[in-house]
Amino acid sequence: MIGILALQGAFIEHKYILDNLSVESFEIRKLSDLNKKMSGVILPGGESTTIGKLLLDLNMFIPLQDKIKNGLPSFGTCAGAILLAKYVEDGTPSLATMDIKIKRNAYGRQLGSFFTKDKFDDEIIPMSFIRAPLITEVVAGNILATVNDDIVAVKQNNQLVTTFHPELKTDFVHKYFLNTIVQR
Ligand code: GLN
Repeated sequence: MIGILALQGAFIEHKYILDNLSVESFEIRKLSDLNKKMSGVILPGGESTTIGKLLLDLNMFIPLQDKIKNGLPSFGTCAGAILLAKYVEDGTPSLATMDIKIKRNAYGRQLGSFFTKDKFDDEIIPMSFIRAPLITEVVAGNILATVNDDIVAVKQNNQLVTTFHPELKTDFVHKYFLNTIVQR
């Protein structure tokens, strides 16, 4: 059972991918949802400042942070990656569970959005970048993908982040998350 943080942003696309893989999921919208039994959590893309503020307003920030710190398998895409990063260059508050440094809107705003294909863990996959952040430093973890030398996917123990949106075009990264982190 995978929980999908559904406060703002592109969460429904993650549900479609999991549905197609016959993996059960539920939406996390309020504090009590965090008490449901889950074997992993997905933090979607959207606006990291808004999601962070909603987590605080709904008293979900600390409980979610604790679960991730305690080893809950976690997968953050784009804004979700910003939320997991320990260091956000503009000081945006984050859960700060993953030892990476990240820069928001690193490719400019809407005009800087682009689509490409590149290697993720030895497989060429489609990658959609939408006002994407850039991982500027990996203090701990494994780099799983780069695009033109930019780091776009990192795994660190129970956590996986991509600066692109895999849920729009491929189920490969979700399968990777399920196979290598959720079921480890
Ligand atoms: N630009 C957004 C932010 O800084 C992230 C964009 C996205 O998730 N597609 O939060």
